Amino acid sequence: MNWLTDYVKPRLSKVIRKRESPDNLWHKCKSCGQMIFHRDYVAALKVCSNCDFHDRIGPKDRFDALFDESRYELLKLPAVKDDPLKFRDTRRYTDRLKEARNASGDQDAVQLAKGSLGGVTSVIFVQNFFFMGGSMGMAVGEAIVRAAEEAIASKAPLILFSAAGGARMQEGILSLMQMPRTTVAVDMVKEAGLPYIVVLTDPTTGGVTASYAMLGDVHIAEPGALIGFAGQRVIEQTIREKLPEGFQRAEYLLDHGMVDMVVHRHEMRATLRRLVSLLMEKHRPVLNDAVQ
Ligand SMILES: [Zn+2]
Repeated sequence: MNWLTDYVKPRLSKVIRKRESPDNLWHKCKSCGQMIFHRDYVAALKVCSNCDFHDRIGPKDRFDALFDESRYELLKLPAVKDDPLKFRDTRRYTDRLKEARNASGDQDAVQLAKGSLGGVTSVIFVQNFFFMGGSMGMAVGEAIVRAAEEAIASKAPLILFSAAGGARMQEGILSLMQMPRTTVAVDMVKEAGLPYIVVLTDPTTGGVTASYAMLGDVHIAEPGALIGFAGQRVIEQTIREKLPEGFQRAEYLLDHGMVDMVVHRHEMRATLRRLVSLLMEKHRPVLNDAVQ
């Protein structure tokens, strides 16, 4: 008990909070600097109305925008062991996890939901970049296996939104082991004759690009998304050459055949709806065979 913490600090936070609220009314675009009314910005799914810059969004915003009438069921994710390597860099891994969990309210960098998309039951997996850079550790790997099993059990297409800096280094080899595991999970979906659609969002890099994010039947990318394996500087230093303008961006990858289409966020639901309906129609005879 002392007057500094009990009296001065609460008063100070009150003053600070007061100052924050007017700022929150406006959002400044990270790309063009335009001030946008915050409510409009959220309603536009965080796409700048001036320059069309696609800012990062989390799983809830995706699910709300994609599923019919914003109705869906969040699926419970398998629990994994926290911090199996007792890892510590500048801070303990358990402390980083705790902080990310408190900030997001989620257990790890992923959310999984099932619901109707244009009348077709679909499983949607969204990686959350706001949770430790969306990094792929055991929890994300388990969640992909769970998503694949759910898709197969429900005879539903699996749609995966990737967003990650890569593997979670705090889990070392255990995070790298998720690359073959998730590859097998994706194969299970394909063997069941169900579509697996990947939407690459900003950024998708490292071990995620090297596994499940590049195994889709269809690859969609959001405009301007950074998609690649190694970073641009590392490549430039290795090959001792300057890389072309826009290298590793969605539009560049479309021109070079790495992705099938670049789709504006406002068109995402309509595009996925169309794809799912077309692909499920095509797969229906296979499904019927499997049932018989
Ligand atoms: Zn802008």
